[in-house]
Amino acid sequence: MNRRQFFRTATGAATFVRIPYVSAAGAAKYDLIVKGGRVIDPSRKLDAIRDVAIAHGRIAAIGANIRVDAAEVVDARGKLVVPGLIDIHTHAARIKDGPALCLADGVTGWIDAGSQGADRIGETIAIAKAAPQPCRVLINIGRAGILPEGDTMDINRADVGAAREAIARNREMIAGVKARLSREVVGPNDFEVLRRAQEVASPFHLPVMIHMGQTVSPLPKLLALLKPGDIVTHMFAPPPNSIIDDAGHILPEVMAARRRGVRFDLGNGRVGHLRWDMTERILQAGFLPDTFSTDWTPEGRASQVIDFPNVMSKFLMLGMSIDQVIACATVNASRAFAVFRNRGTLKVGAPADIAVLELREGTFDFVDNYENKRTGRQRLFPSATVLAGKRIATRA
Ligand SMILES: [Zn+2]
Repeated sequence: MNRRQFFRTATGAATFVRIPYVSAAGAAKYDLIVKGGRVIDPSRKLDAIRDVAIAHGRIAAIGANIRVDAAEVVDARGKLVVPGLIDIHTHAARIKDGPALCLADGVTGWIDAGSQGADRIGETIAIAKAAPQPCRVLINIGRAGILPEGDTMDINRADVGAAREAIARNREMIAGVKARLSREVVGPNDFEVLRRAQEVASPFHLPVMIHMGQTVSPLPKLLALLKPGDIVTHMFAPPPNSIIDDAGHILPEVMAARRRGVRFDLGNGRVGHLRWDMTERILQAGFLPDTFSTDWTPEGRASQVIDFPNVMSKFLMLGMSIDQVIACATVNASRAFAVFRNRGTLKVGAPADIAVLELREGTFDFVDNYENKRTGRQRLFPSATVLAGKRIATRA
């Protein structure tokens, strides 16, 4: 359906919402209704019990008690209905079933952040292309990708020519450049590796995502190389070179980077990125993440990360509001990469990507990257996912 037809449909649907009862003739309008859930859509500042009606793969109407028989009904009573989750730092393209596993967790869009470099980028791209949901990959500036001995410990692996060539060949699937800069990945090469990452990205106008924390160079020196739209992942990394000083002040260079449009992202991961006390101090200083991300790996499914809703729940425990938590995983994340534009929202006309989550009350243990355990009273669980208007999975 073309754009003009679509807007006619959307307008027609909105009219139906205002009518208390809709005849069977009107019923054909919707393919699916997510019924009776608490709809939280930070993009529209909406938090209310609503029905979400879907037609032709798009959000067709949102209203209280839409009295229409749709082809399919997802009963969301007692659950949260939020825009499909967007995870901007995963390694979902490392394994074949990564995308489907993420989708079952409510993740309707993801970025593979540098699993591979120029030499084997084709492998991650093949998985991304076969994925059910919209996704892209970042190319690791290290041409051999993630290496146990350090991606760019050998500076020759930060090969500008090879990376540019790979991007030129795969322009539609490579959405940026990843530079992992911690000591055990680059040694003293962090600044030069980041400089080369920017050299790769600039002719293509692509963002660079840096993996911060435990770097040899002081963070301000690295931040100086970041341009608007670039992303700092692992923003809660403990010293050396965290974003906050010992006195509890966010570094002025970090504030300046945010002001000029650099994004700060969680990147939960499993090693060296997340420690409760640091996270608490940074949140207390008023520096909230722009985006959440899991740094998802098959190993992370078994410990610490588990799933995206679990990662989000940690920040409920740390005092962020449900609205802030959902925003970090939806609308904010949609702004980070062009592929997600018009997603991360439930506005009428947007692609019908929806995560139905269950917010359970109880006692839930969360572990940081240093085996510190904390107990929260709420945990989000994935319940159902709708992708492009089709219900795809049920879990939990
Ligand atoms: Zn990662």
